[in-house]
Amino acid sequence: MKADLRYEKEVRASSAYRTVESDIRRGEMSHAYFIVSEDKDAVDTLFSLIAMRVYCDTVCKECKECRKILMRSKPDVKFLAEGDENFSVEEMSALTEDAGMTSFEGGAKLYFFKNFERVSEAAQNKLLKTLEEPYPNVHFILSAANTGSVLPTVLSRSKQVLLTAFPAEAIREGLIRSGVEEDRAERGARIGQGSFTRARILAADEDFSRHVSEVTEMVCGLKRSADVRGYLKSPIFSKERFPATLSILEIVLGDAVNAHLGLPLVLTESAKEIGEIAEMYTVAALGAALDVVLTCRIRLKANCIAQNVADYLMLKMVEVKYKCR
Ligand SMILES: [Zn+2]
Repeated sequence: MKADLRYEKEVRASSAYRTVESDIRRGEMSHAYFIVSEDKDAVDTLFSLIAMRVYCDTVCKECKECRKILMRSKPDVKFLAEGDENFSVEEMSALTEDAGMTSFEGGAKLYFFKNFERVSEAAQNKLLKTLEEPYPNVHFILSAANTGSVLPTVLSRSKQVLLTAFPAEAIREGLIRSGVEEDRAERGARIGQGSFTRARILAADEDFSRHVSEVTEMVCGLKRSADVRGYLKSPIFSKERFPATLSILEIVLGDAVNAHLGLPLVLTESAKEIGEIAEMYTVAALGAALDVVLTCRIRLKANCIAQNVADYLMLKMVEVKYKCR
């Protein structure tokens, strides 16, 4: 059985994988890595590839070791902080204790953290001791969408690895290979900003054109703070659609910058609305608004209430529009 790894070819070619792979090949795998990336789909695949590479030179996906990793049934390889819940200090205590014990199968022990941003500060501090005095043959591979909530000491004790944006063509091919229809893959790749996760979500958006119109309509209609209230109940801010709304908003604001600079637009079909937004916002205001979007993304991931985030988003957008005239 050959298990399917999403975007395997593209992630294997990434500098992040090649860096870690070459460390393993030279027998110099670091006791801790830190991978900063919002692209959780790519991180999933990267983790599986690294884990297989530790136990199998060719990452064949077919031998006993590879299969155990793909089935998540190897006791010495743990995948942690994969969901939305916070990783507590108690869990970290149990884990660091576990790390100090001999491995089940006599080889290396690996601990992967997908959402390290979900690990509390106290739990990070707990891990820090283990990072400072590493156990032989025990490796931590940590990843977070951003380093805002990561202790600088954790970062400085880890080898930092960059998972850079993927080229649009690689995303298009990867999406098609994973079963996405061609025209949708094309759209996702065009607007996914180098992220497989973002591209996949946008490619799957059933009502993409309508969603874009709703977002541009909100931005155009947001003239003063009194207007915020009218949009709070808009379906674009529902819990399910909010993340895609933020991605679209980023593209819209980026396109307004393009309009200012006379560069080609990504959303060609919304040229009229983009022009209107470019008239409302200066380039500086658009830059500030893009920062606001980023903050909202972090707040949503931290499980803030959607309506509060929407309120903050729109009030801040009005504010930067006036501030950066
Ligand atoms: Zn293998």
